[in-house]
Parts: sequence; C-alpha cells; structure tokens
Amino acid sequence: MLKRTHNCGQLRLENAGKKVTLAGWVHSYRDHGGLVFIDLRDKEGLTQLVFNPETRPEAHKLARTARCEWVIAAKGIVQPRSEGMENPKLPTGQIEVAVQQVEILNVSKTPPFEIDEAEKTNEELRLASRYIDLRRPKMQQRLRIRHRVNKIVRDYFDRFGFLEIETPMLAKSTPEGARDFLVPSRLHKNCFYALPQSPQLFKQILMMGGVDKYFQIVRCFRDEDPRADRQAEFTQVDVEMSFVDSNDVIGVHENLIAKIWKQILNVDVKAPMRRMTYKEAMADYGTDRPDLRFNMKLKDISDIAKMSGFEVFTKAIKAGGIVKGLCVPAGSEKYSRSDIEKTLTEFVCDYGAKGLVWSKIKKEPFDSAQGGNDKFGFVGGLAKFFSDEQIRQIVERFAAKDSDLLIFIADCEKIVNKALAPLRCKIAKGLKLYDEKAFEFVWITEFPLFEWNEDEKRYDSLHHPFTAPVPEELEKLGSDPANIRSQAYDIVVNGSEIGGGSIRIHDPKVQGKVFELLNISKKQAQQRFGFFLRALEYGAPPHGGIALGLDRMIMLLTGTENIRDVIAFPKTQSGQCLLTDAPSEVDQKQLDELNLRTQRHSHIIEQEAEKQK
Ligand code: ASP
Repeated sequence: MLKRTHNCGQLRLENAGKKVTLAGWVHSYRDHGGLVFIDLRDKEGLTQLVFNPETRPEAHKLARTARCEWVIAAKGIVQPRSEGMENPKLPTGQIEVAVQQVEILNVSKTPPFEIDEAEKTNEELRLASRYIDLRRPKMQQRLRIRHRVNKIVRDYFDRFGFLEIETPMLAKSTPEGARDFLVPSRLHKNCFYALPQSPQLFKQILMMGGVDKYFQIVRCFRDEDPRADRQAEFTQVDVEMSFVDSNDVIGVHENLIAKIWKQILNVDVKAPMRRMTYKEAMADYGTDRPDLRFNMKLKDISDIAKMSGFEVFTKAIKAGGIVKGLCVPAGSEKYSRSDIEKTLTEFVCDYGAKGLVWSKIKKEPFDSAQGGNDKFGFVGGLAKFFSDEQIRQIVERFAAKDSDLLIFIADCEKIVNKALAPLRCKIAKGLKLYDEKAFEFVWITEFPLFEWNEDEKRYDSLHHPFTAPVPEELEKLGSDPANIRSQAYDIVVNGSEIGGGSIRIHDPKVQGKVFELLNISKKQAQQRFGFFLRALEYGAPPHGGIALGLDRMIMLLTGTENIRDVIAFPKTQSGQCLLTDAPSEVDQKQLDELNLRTQRHSHIIEQEAEKQK
C-alpha cells in the first residue's frame, strides 16, 4: 500500500518539485477527455490531483474508474497549477499533484447525499449515514473545536490543582428534577440502577472525601420530553471545590470561559463579568436568561395604568396582575398594524397571553408658550383612556421617542414575563438591533431557593435540594421559605444558559429541613439519600460547584443552533439514534435474565393462555 507523506491540506507553492503521496476520499472528479482531475479530501483539506494519459497511462486509466467517496492513495510530483487555474479559496489552490502512481484502497457505493450538498439534505438521512456526514469539513471542524475546548478545560483545571475523577454511570437516582433512565440489574432481581442526571451527589461526597478540587468532563442523562436544543444524553464540565464561596467559583469559571473564547474565537471576554440578581433580571427582562446584546428593557407601568380609564389594564391589575411593556425604537415605522395585531399578537398568545396593547408614539407640535422639553403623545385609540400626565409618565418611563412603538401585556406576572421575554428577543432579532457576533455574558445570582408548586401544594427547589440558602436568611426556613434567596448562580450568554451551580448545604440539619419543605419525608429521605445524609455527619467541609453545558458552549463557539451538529453521534429529538437504530427491542433471553417482561410479551403470554383454555 502506498503510504502517505502529507495530508490533503498541507502542500503549498514552496513544495513544488517534491515527490509526495496523499491518501483520502475522491471528493470530485472531472474527466476532460485528456486530463483527469480528482479533488482528494481528508480531514485537513482538499488537494487537486491531475492524471495525464500520455505520461502516466496506467494511473490515468485507473483514475477514470474512480468515483465520489472512493478511497485512493496517489503518489506524484507537486507542481504549480497552470496560469488561470489557481483557486484562491483553497489553501492548496496554487498547486496540484501530477500523479505517477495511484492505488484504489476501497470503492464506495453511490453515497446517499453529496458532501457539498449536505446542508440542504434532510437531516435524518445525514444522521443515518453519519460516517459520510462526518467527512464534511464543517463537521470535522466542529469535532476539532470540541476536542480543543476539552483540552483547554483539562489543562486549565490541572494547572490549578483540580483532579479529574470519574464517577459511576450505573448509579442511584439523583434528584436533578428530570426523569431517570433506568438500567435493570441482573444480579439483584427487581432492582434498578439509574444513569446519572449529573454527578451531583458523588462530587459533593468527593469534597467530604477530602479531594478539595474536582472536575470531570462527564456524560449526563435526563429522560426529558423532546426539546429542540436538548439531548437526553449530554456532556457537562462538572466542578466542585471545598472551602469556597460563590465568588471563588464564579471567578475560576469566568477566567476559564474567557480563555476558551480567546483561544477558540480570538474574542476578548471581559472578566470579571457582569452580574445581575434574579430579581433584577426578571424585572428588566422577564427571564433569568436575559440576552444583553441589546437594551429594550421591560418596564412595569401598573402604578400608572391602574389610575387610567382603560379597562383591560385596570381589570388585570384588580385581579392581582400587572401591566408591563417594552418600547421598540422606531417601531412605528417598522411594524404595520397587521404586523402587530396578527404576527406579534399570535406570538404572545402562544405563550399564554390573551393579547397585546400597543401605541405608536408621536412628537407633538412644540408649544413654545409652555417652554421646556419635547412632548410625545400616543397615536390612536389608546390615548383617550389616559390623561396627558399619565401619558407623559409612561413615555418618560420608557424614555420613548418620536415614532417608537410601545407594546404592553396585562395579565398575571408570570404570563406577562413569559410572553414579553421572548417577544423582546423576537423583535430585536427581526429588527437587527444587535451584532449577532457579539457575546454578552452575565452571571445571574440570588435565585429564590424554592418555587411554590401549586399542583402538588409543596415547594420545589429552583436549582436542586442541595443548594444552600444565603446565610442571613437561614432562619426563614421555618417561617418564610418562599422568600429565601439561595447561593446559586447561573452563567448566561446571549440569552442562553450555559451553566449553573451553587454553594451547597453542608449542615445535615439544614439539609433535613430542606427535604422537609420539599415534602420528602424522613423515611423517603433515608431511602433515597440516606448515604448522603450520613456522609454529611462526618465532617463535611463547606463546598460549592458548578456544571457548564459543554454541548451548548460548543454550539455558541461554532455558531450553530442545532445541538446535533456538535455531537458526533447524536439522537433525534425523539431520542432515536438513526445510525444504530437504538432504542430497539432485545431478545427474550436477555429479558428473561433480567426477570423482565415487556407489555407486548405479557400480551403474547395471555393470548397463549387463552388458547390453552
Ligand atoms: N448538578 C447541577 C446540574 O447538573 C450543577 C451543579 O449544581 O453543580 O445542573
């Protein structure tokens, strides 16, 4: 077999005259009657091979048989391309290799899609033939970036004395809030392992085991309902540290993120990064994942609206709701009545709002007798329900200008925020109010420790049950749990959460109390977390940590919105691997060994029994 001396992205003009051997896939071929040209591809790039029937008739003859995706090796001399034939878009575009000898290493069936056409190809087809899809330069680049990020992470933590420690995949169910994937045990009949939703309890126990600084690039499993940007199996950069407060954890990770962004994208990320409390984020952006590439803050105008004559507002407020809105710069010119009343209204209704109220803003003729500042008014129907003073206050609150557009939603606070937050992003994106290439990072802090679950009449943890309250609010555990702030922090970039963590509870009594509020009885707590509660009783150090979502980070770094693009072998939204056909049925023998019976099998047995009767 011909052994390659170079890769397909390597040769340049200065290599002219050199004898080389390349190996790779036939990306394309052109038979010009005389000369045959083949673009040979490997993970590093493309190189043009040229086969001359006069000087090398045998190689030429063989080359004429080759087709797309055949695997070949070719030996020849590097030469400059003839004038006018250079390809400035290719790094190897100045040269070609005049082939003397060629070897066909393997043939290929006609591929189900052309590599260059992959982006236009149905994704399911690409996933089913992932080995071909992965040959695409873009996919190779994504894999490479992922590898580089992993390497930066490992080097970074290693330098600061963190140990990478593997934690079990066959584990006990961890309460991260999602459904577990279960694995039946053969040796312990009727018992199951759970695939870890995260290594949360193990990493905390590592701190109790004196490890001090832990990290792991780790696979986590959550059997959640399909969501476009989620995979049931995903990867986290998981970290835990002892004797730290939130500032320590935040500091270590903003430097890591800055390093990754610098090394991969050559983007300077400012550290320390911006911080915002949960309360502030909800008030100004309606979400704990604010996109800060643009301003357009939400403003609550309930105090003014409740004095108006506009029933939609006054009724909502009387019912315990609020009126909140946003101001679209120059929105009157950008949106027509039907854009607002159809497209935008339908959009907010999808988030549970009943509709939206809007008004265009117009600069009123300047009344020199009054002197002072410019005056702006509402255009159209809404104006008659508000006094001049109320309009002035609203305009002032939004700092609205001539031809801006005000949009309001009146409802309970939850729905108002749920609808306005995505509306704000949709409008900003549609009107191109920001630089798509910018990255705006922010730490969200001081989340509530609990959230009231109305359906189940109990509290839920906003993060997870091991998150510590801020020390000064500890005593509220007994009296006012709904108003306890936690020592949790999330890192958000451009409206997407890329990580989150917290300082943990290290006092077994506090942990017990939190379980109680979550309605986990002492008995249940013992059954599920007994091992953990016991560990807390033997000198657990104060500790805290975080997990960064690796897949999401790579999506941002490679500029894709499809999580499957950054995973070599991803699953579809409904959790299928189209390459291997997982999940699939298994042999009855396997089930018997596990003492399991599927519903279908039970059905067959019942039918058999029926027949016997
Ligand atoms: N275990 C948490 C998660 O996976 C992260 C953490 O608190 O460290 O979301």
